[in-house]
Amino acid sequence: MNILVINCGSSSLKFQVIDASTEKLLAKGLCERIGGAGSGITYENVVKGTGKIETITPLPDHKQAVSLVLQSISDPENGVVKSLDEIGAVGHRIVHGGEKFTSSVIINDEVIEAIKECSDLAPLHNPANLIGVAACQALMPGTPMVAVFDTAFHQTMPEKAYMYALPLKYYEKYRVRRYGFHGTSHSFVSKKVAEVVGKPYDSLKTIVCHLGNGASISAVNHGKCVDTSMGLTPLEGLIMGTRSGDLDPAIIEFIANKENLTTSEVVNILNKKSGVYALSGELSSDFRDLEDGYKKGNKKAQLAVDAFCYNVAKYVGAYAAAMNGVDVIAFTAGIGENSPFVREKVLAYFGYLGIDVDEAANATRGKDIRISTPDSKVAVYVIPTNEELAIARETFALCK
Ligand code: ADP
Repeated sequence: MNILVINCGSSSLKFQVIDASTEKLLAKGLCERIGGAGSGITYENVVKGTGKIETITPLPDHKQAVSLVLQSISDPENGVVKSLDEIGAVGHRIVHGGEKFTSSVIINDEVIEAIKECSDLAPLHNPANLIGVAACQALMPGTPMVAVFDTAFHQTMPEKAYMYALPLKYYEKYRVRRYGFHGTSHSFVSKKVAEVVGKPYDSLKTIVCHLGNGASISAVNHGKCVDTSMGLTPLEGLIMGTRSGDLDPAIIEFIANKENLTTSEVVNILNKKSGVYALSGELSSDFRDLEDGYKKGNKKAQLAVDAFCYNVAKYVGAYAAAMNGVDVIAFTAGIGENSPFVREKVLAYFGYLGIDVDEAANATRGKDIRISTPDSKVAVYVIPTNEELAIARETFALCK
């Protein structure tokens, strides 16, 4: 069964077509600047090896974008299906499932209402995700659709991990609690690493470090997520590209008063102007630039990278404590997969866990690989994440 995977943002839409039976990627692409000037689509037929085909064309709304995606994948020359009947189901990435969704579900009216109810927890994401669902439903009536939630994997966390020490009424009235994000990736990588290690998923204590522009860590104890670093929103936890991560909440009022800003304006700064971007003196939020700066002796770039790695190490240490030990640590996402430099710096904190880095393995890229020496007490792996494949698997499981 061919599955169309859709990840719909406010002005962009990423898509892939995956043959779920063979797990082969058939086509992929991206619509950008939807509703704005210079909009267009980048499309690639992976089977045929077309490379990226870019088309600039007006995309006034998401329905037009989805329509163009459907045209591209069924195009007589470069499409991957003869007709849209060959798309068996659509899997949609939905950011926030609140406490309602502990796993993926087939989308119906009730599910859409429930996702809308979670929108105040993710006001930028859920409405955009739902626009993608509506556009697909309008253009592919009768094709089953599945919602796959970023938060669902973390719903197994115990109360002691997800409750904030705030007046209980805020949880009771507004469901203010830790939810966690990147769940599809944490789930995929924790399962994959167990497979690579060759041990049952439910026998391992695993820490997954999803280090991308957005970054989060999770503790997966015997196959269940027991803690994760992001919170009610993706702002909590690690220092990220432009997000501050953890800080003293009193800082928000302090800066608001000093700079005559509203709390929303300060929170916007914490989301968009902070993180390694801020620490590096606004050099960059991209680790390629920061590593380059680091190696050239730029002190602020060095501070940004050092603070990031220190922070990751602190969380890994905390989660090893939370699980009373750790068997496997897995690195994934843009930085986790591609930066031997960051991995080595993080792992340098773990001599006490008996971790030794295999330098040659750590320099390898793009595949599942063990980067700790064979006699290291904790096994450390790089596992490339594949959220689209994980969404296709979930969709296939519900629709086959
Ligand atoms: P997101 O999905 O949150 O946008 P990604 O997982 O795609 O993030 O990660 C993007 C980040 O990965 C970039 O901003 C950059 O910091 C980092 N990155 C990508 N390639 C490399 C590389 N070769 N070396 C170091 N960092 C890299």
